Amino acid sequence: MQKIISLCKRRGFVFPSSEIYGGFSSCYDFGPLGVEMKNNIKKAWWEEMIRNHENIVGLDAAILMSPKVWQASGHLTAGFADLLVECKSCHKRFRLDEIANPKSEIRNPKCPECGGQLTEPRKFNLMMKTLVGPVEEEAATTYLRAETCQGIFMNYENVLNSMRLKIPFGIAQIGKSFRNEITTKNFVFRIREFEQMEMEWFCHPKEAEKYFDYWKKERLNWYLNLGIKKDNLRLREVPKEERPHYAKETVDIEYKFPFGWGELEAINNRGDFDLSNHSKNSGKDLRYVDEQTKERYFPYIIETSGGIDRSFLAILCDAHQEIKGGRTKTTKAVKEIEVLLKLDKKIAPIKVAILPLVKNKPELVKKAREVYQLLKPHFVCQYDELGSIGRRYRRMDEVGTITSVTCDFQTLEDNAVTLRDRDSMKQIRVEISTLKDTIQKILEGEEFLKLGKPIK
Ligand code: ATP
Repeated sequence: MQKIISLCKRRGFVFPSSEIYGGFSSCYDFGPLGVEMKNNIKKAWWEEMIRNHENIVGLDAAILMSPKVWQASGHLTAGFADLLVECKSCHKRFRLDEIANPKSEIRNPKCPECGGQLTEPRKFNLMMKTLVGPVEEEAATTYLRAETCQGIFMNYENVLNSMRLKIPFGIAQIGKSFRNEITTKNFVFRIREFEQMEMEWFCHPKEAEKYFDYWKKERLNWYLNLGIKKDNLRLREVPKEERPHYAKETVDIEYKFPFGWGELEAINNRGDFDLSNHSKNSGKDLRYVDEQTKERYFPYIIETSGGIDRSFLAILCDAHQEIKGGRTKTTKAVKEIEVLLKLDKKIAPIKVAILPLVKNKPELVKKAREVYQLLKPHFVCQYDELGSIGRRYRRMDEVGTITSVTCDFQTLEDNAVTLRDRDSMKQIRVEISTLKDTIQKILEGEEFLKLGKPIK
């Protein structure tokens, strides 16, 4: 895990928040490569949900909502709280379920840090409070949302009517959520400000089981299609005592992280918990009326609730490879450990590297910069002229760049460049006039060696 964390810092994926002040409370900032990669994950999810399904629409609701929403949703009461214990000696705080298995015989666990005695467990609410309004004394207290889906429930009727939808249909949303987690650890796996990608599927109660099953399979396939290894993914039926307060049934999609299995996404059957509670509390009847049968009912909701930061971490862990001695047989590389980030073509932050063979030949540099300008509007590109060509290839492999374009002396004569494939390290010669289309085909998954003249 330490290797991933240091790669993220060194190569501009993730930085600790407010680092010059010593960091802040398990918050992280995504750097230039991190934001590209995160955007690619979001795009892949959005395309899968909205473009590949006929009856799912998007939404972007505000983070701040009336506190009444959180009262009705059960988040301000016992439902959304963890059991917290504090060490009487070192005063560190822990989530009880992380240091003691409630079903095991272990009673009175000791502090995992210093072995000291712990206090009795008490409920700790995870909602983050904030004040809204210009005068502090008169300001309304509300909360930063702890899940994005409440914004979807608030807009259920607006979306239904404005888009003239019929059940079954879904509303999908990506956005920030906040939880005052008791213990934060494992890098961006458990943080206090994170991003969720949630889809709420509204259906007839009699069809809820069928759709629960459908979404469970669909979502697992999505992770497999992003190139995550099958052996590192599993579905886990969540037992009743561990389920969230709103769920009738939950299955988690888990990834085998270096620190153990951890949840990437929860598929929940929320029943009619949300719409019936919001109807009761707001006085607004949110039941659906079937125009044909005239049946009036609260739709059941099947939810797919994934975390972008956790997907990001899982994808990085899964793609990360270390090759002792390096993949090339040059004497220098033999001593080194080579890092290869075998990211999926859709997810890799940089698609193309543009490299002049050497940097001290102005005509070569000029040509390479022309190629860079040509490709830059179409792909995320990086221009690099520092160091030997071998080192530059390795720098690109380390961040998962799909292909590298090298301009050499021959380029000045034949207007062709060398393209190198990240995974096979094979090379082809391609004319600059067809370069953009060739790279497009590479990104679409066409066979690399067939796209140009192979170089031995
Ligand atoms: P956990 O049991 O790990 O605390 P959870 O069951 O509380 O997670 P959900 O409420 O089901 O999580 O949230 C849905 C998704 O949101 C999770 O699968 C995860 O990907 C993401 N998520 C939740 N909490 C965090 C967090 N603190 N940091 C990063 N991602 C999170």
